[in-house]
Amino acid sequence: MTVQPEQDRATETSCWCCGTDYPETELVRLGQHPEVGVCLGCARWLQRRAVQRYDEQHPSPMGRLRSGINAVRAAVIRKGWHERGVIGAVLRWIDRRLP
Ligand SMILES: [Zn+2]
Repeated sequence: MTVQPEQDRATETSCWCCGTDYPETELVRLGQHPEVGVCLGCARWLQRRAVQRYDEQHPSPMGRLRSGINAVRAAVIRKGWHERGVIGAVLRWIDRRLP
């Protein structure tokens, strides 16, 4: 039996997307590659990218609506409004409830 060095064990609970350390309970593991963990925020980001890719391949009215929402989200982030005090908190609250 081998014991991993402390530093290696610490990287096992790092998000493979953003690199931030998280407790195991806040990581989602890939089915066939359980060594890969993604934090909940990055998992949501990946889900949105997957839906965006699907919408590009399968145009629909809902896809166009989601595309519009994504364009507004990108503009808000680009202008930094999501980091502004109360307005930012409200925008982040709304964002968590959008597709
Ligand atoms: Zn992450």
